[in-house]
Amino acid sequence: MTTLNDFSRCIVQYDPHALPVSSAQAIVREWASPVAAVERVPLHDALDRVLAEDIVSPINVPAHDNSAMDGYAFDGASLEAQAGTVSLQVAGKALAGHAFGRPVAAGECVRVMTGALIPPGCDTVVPQEAVTREADTVHFAANALTRGANRRFAGEDLAQGQPALRAGRIVRAADLGLLASLGIGEVPVRRRLRVAFFSTGDELRSLGEPLDPGCVYDSNRHTLFAMLRRMNIAALDLGVVRDEPAALEAALRNAAESADVVLTSGGVSVGEADFTKQLVRTFGDVAFWSLAMRPGRPLAFGRVWSGGRPGAGQPALFFGLPGNPVAVMVTFYQIVREALIVMSGATVTPQPVISATSTQAIRKRAGRTEFQRGVATRDAHGQWHVTPTGSQGSGVLSSMSEANCFLMLAHEQSDIDEGDTVDIMLFDGLV
Ligand code: AMP
Ligand code: MG
Repeated sequence: MTTLNDFSRCIVQYDPHALPVSSAQAIVREWASPVAAVERVPLHDALDRVLAEDIVSPINVPAHDNSAMDGYAFDGASLEAQAGTVSLQVAGKALAGHAFGRPVAAGECVRVMTGALIPPGCDTVVPQEAVTREADTVHFAANALTRGANRRFAGEDLAQGQPALRAGRIVRAADLGLLASLGIGEVPVRRRLRVAFFSTGDELRSLGEPLDPGCVYDSNRHTLFAMLRRMNIAALDLGVVRDEPAALEAALRNAAESADVVLTSGGVSVGEADFTKQLVRTFGDVAFWSLAMRPGRPLAFGRVWSGGRPGAGQPALFFGLPGNPVAVMVTFYQIVREALIVMSGATVTPQPVISATSTQAIRKRAGRTEFQRGVATRDAHGQWHVTPTGSQGSGVLSSMSEANCFLMLAHEQSDIDEGDTVDIMLFDGLV
């Protein structure tokens, strides 16, 4: 069996102690494979789900040529026949859902409303604002429009037999409307990805418990829950696990049994109570455990098996996230998120990165990628400016809460001067 470790060694710049972020992302991408099962769900339940198949349009949308304006439909040949002013006899009317029944003769027009079928014999619509009407006759300037104007063609939006949406697409609001416009009420989607997660640490207290001296409330489980929920992933909260190898092993095996991916927080550093990484090394498979990244240096990635040894029972991908609350969020967004998208069966679209001017000098050491938290604003000239939020400590969750973007300081980058251009990634859209 190829182990993650064998595979990872092939990666350029493989150093399991301080792997560059881009190499880590490449390893994770390679090991994330989409869930296979497909289910058919009612239209509304398809929102935020991943399309499992291309959706081929069973009909033309619109189904027939129709008017784009309220006005008068006529045979555009009369534009050429009558230079100057065109005068036409109003033969009747057509409304959306109510067609005009008979062919239109030369010299005639039909009053049409937006969406009404273009009557037989007509190909052009003059907007009502462009005409003067006297009893049953309308007059308008021939040079006010060209033949074919204001006519929507059958199949102009979606042509019958053409793929309207591609497999791998995450279904958004416009797509629900689009599917409905095709008459599709049931949608093939991948089954939801299942992610189990738990926090580790003897100091952690759950909500409702008294906060003993030296203890902290467990916040990571709640940010993880929120980030997973926003990605429409089935999140399985396995609570807090004490810093005891036996308890950790049981929790990891249970998680592997019930989920596709296991996320843990804490216990992956080099402290005396940091058992998670060692455990996964003995009964699973670890590709890397330390990144050239800040925050998020201790981060273990590998696989665990419910049977307690490689190849036994159910496998799950494993991310041992750091314990510090900001590091959990940063590593989730920068390393875990893409794997979850791939495993959900969705097509990965790169997150937009924009350039901003730093309003202050920033200390940065070359040789690691940093994701500082910042507040970005756009000025009247369309230029973005960014200011790092107060303390950048990896435990300071308020800096994350206050921020609206990451400052993405590249691996090779060193100190930044006030006024320098930096890359930022806005949080909106990340989940
Ligand atoms: P560790 O990596 O386990 O040494 O944890 C690093 C720091 O993060 C310690 O100060 C922990 O108390 C803190 N921490 C770990 N897990 C959590 C959690 N679930 N919620 C809040 N803080 C945590
Ligand atoms: Mg700990």
